[in-house]
Amino acid sequence: MNDKPVALVTGANKGIGLQIAKDLAMHGLTVLVGSRDLGRGEAAAKRVGGDARAVQLDVTDPVSIRAAAERIRSELGRLDVLVNNAAIAHASDPSLSFESILAAGRPSVAALEEVRAVFETNVFGVIAVTQAMIPLLRDAPKGLIVNVSSEVGSLTMQTDPANPYRIPNASYVASKTALNAITIAFANELESTRIKVNAACPGFTATDLNRFHGVRTVEQGARQPVRLALLDANGPTGTFSNEAGPLPW
Ligand code: NAP
Repeated sequence: MNDKPVALVTGANKGIGLQIAKDLAMHGLTVLVGSRDLGRGEAAAKRVGGDARAVQLDVTDPVSIRAAAERIRSELGRLDVLVNNAAIAHASDPSLSFESILAAGRPSVAALEEVRAVFETNVFGVIAVTQAMIPLLRDAPKGLIVNVSSEVGSLTMQTDPANPYRIPNASYVASKTALNAITIAFANELESTRIKVNAACPGFTATDLNRFHGVRTVEQGARQPVRLALLDANGPTGTFSNEAGPLPW
């Protein structure tokens, strides 16, 4: 078994995931830099520093997920932390502006194949990766799952007329609501084990996801996911929070 705790961060080749990987490596963890493109993952692992290793992982591909789990088992023998970070805001056109992405997700016009593709990555991908990694998390001294969610997925906030971030959107926003439900479901099922399952919102962070419209840096965005990835045995499970504290579901 690897002598250091091991963390897997999905979608860690750029953005907030890359920063989460850097921060966990700085805290002395062995970090598996998940990337659907191995070359981009290897380049990112070099930037992460410490004991960082690229792992090819497409969260929508069962073969890739199984291979990653088998490699972690044989190479490291443990997985202490899983950060489900990978997500997309839109599936089709990478040149689409942020405004167009939001407009394309309006419930009255959203293309069903688009909604399905976003859920495939942001929701079903999280379920599939978590299911594959739970046996490793059960065996590890620690067992922490962090789902990188968003406060736009909060039903309480989306139904508050005073909230300026109410976004009528049937794809990304709804996928984060579903991710929150999945977080609660895993936390409830695993509450009698040592495994803790929490959701974190990084805040509106400048990354490719929003065409760099975000106002927070990736260093700021990574803080709460990293805090939850470093919880000790007394830490909570089944929570949803950002850097400022608890968020309503
Ligand atoms: P980003 O820069 O676009 O990074 C997304 C990452 O996910 C990339 O590494 C991307 O890989 C990866 N990814 C996408 N589909 C994948 C798949 N099928 N398999 C594996 N990896 C995949 O976005 P970000 O802003 O850092 O987002 C990170 C997390 O923060 C997401 O869960 C997002 O919803 C959440 N979040 C972000 C904000 C914000 O304002 N930025 C706010 C709230 C929540 P490629 O490079 O291959 O595309």
